[in-house]
Amino acid sequence: MFCKNCGQQLDDNAVVCPHCGCPTDNFNKQKKQAVSAEDAPSTGFAVLCFFFPVVGLILYLVWHDTMPLRAKSCGKGALIGVIVEVAAALLVTILSFIGCGIAACSTSVLL
Ligand SMILES: [Zn+2]
Repeated sequence: MFCKNCGQQLDDNAVVCPHCGCPTDNFNKQKKQAVSAEDAPSTGFAVLCFFFPVVGLILYLVWHDTMPLRAKSCGKGALIGVIVEVAAALLVTILSFIGCGIAACSTSVLL
């Protein structure tokens, strides 16, 4: 291949041009591989973010660019955590309403 900057012929595996120091296409590929090696979906973080959705949101924003897969795990965990917590809150509210309704009915029957 040839250097994009100075046009000199380069080794196909060269990461930077030895003539001008300009990074080649391999440089970007290697960088991506380095990122993906560290980046992996993490069940541990997903569980952590499930219980602490705020932490999940922060980690998602921090890792969004550098570790997209891990960020996605955190985002998913946080999202499921929020959904479950909202559903639980709704359930408690509904159950307390039913409970109050039953209590109201039994008191009116007694009166
Ligand atoms: Zn060059």
